[in-house]
Amino acid sequence: MEIWRHLDPYLTILTIAAVFVPFEILRPARRRPDFSWARYRTDLLHILFGGFLIRFGTGLAVVFLASLSAPVTSVAAMPIWVQFAIILVLSDLCFWIAHRIYHAVPVLWEFHRIHHSSEHLDWLAAYRVHPADQIVNSAIIALPAIYLGFSPLAIVIYGLIYRWHSILLHSNVDIDFGMLGRIVTTPRFHHWHHANEAHAYDRNFGGQLVIWDKLFGTALDPKGTRPERYGVDNPPEESFVDHMTSPFKASFQHARRHRNIPDRSAL
Ligand SMILES: [Zn+2]
Ligand SMILES: [Zn+2]
Repeated sequence: MEIWRHLDPYLTILTIAAVFVPFEILRPARRRPDFSWARYRTDLLHILFGGFLIRFGTGLAVVFLASLSAPVTSVAAMPIWVQFAIILVLSDLCFWIAHRIYHAVPVLWEFHRIHHSSEHLDWLAAYRVHPADQIVNSAIIALPAIYLGFSPLAIVIYGLIYRWHSILLHSNVDIDFGMLGRIVTTPRFHHWHHANEAHAYDRNFGGQLVIWDKLFGTALDPKGTRPERYGVDNPPEESFVDHMTSPFKASFQHARRHRNIPDRSAL
């Protein structure tokens, strides 16, 4: 049984692939880019090794946070759908704030820009994320679940929907949510977050809900249109190792400039 516990994340990914690969072929939102082994290799290494680091790091962070204090209240007696709605709204507010900060602080952006480096969005792009970015993000999203005393079932339902929704948001699938799209983020809404177009920078920070972007004035969703360009200027190399290491180097350079320490490598 132990082996299945370790394999479970990879079986989940195979299930996700079995759904999204045909979905993207049957209903593509944009023309699929030419096959690039370098891109797929990088994304697959993110899934295999990055995913392991993220699960391990997030587990440690959650255990640490839970050790600081017992839940301050208990809402476990409420109906499951009410608990789910509370987790969704509060966790997405936490996500919005953390995401906004990652875009605003240069040292943190160096880590988050790895997620933005995909020049062609598809379901795999959801996994292209630096572990330092994702672990902090996941821990912050988990704060309501840790401290407000939800029932385990409500947390599991939220976690499952969060995972599938976040992959759908990145996928190259032509799907709209109708009226639900006024509240819930759609793939087109999140694709605009990944646009490398000046008018779309720092927009659409919400993970699952559009309400926080509408409230804070950062929503962008031009009707019926999608970005022309994705990614970032000066992208990192198409290499998993570079994705893991370059944010640390860039952050160190930011810190050195901030403290006016001369860059001897330039001499
Ligand atoms: Zn972002
Ligand atoms: Zn994204």
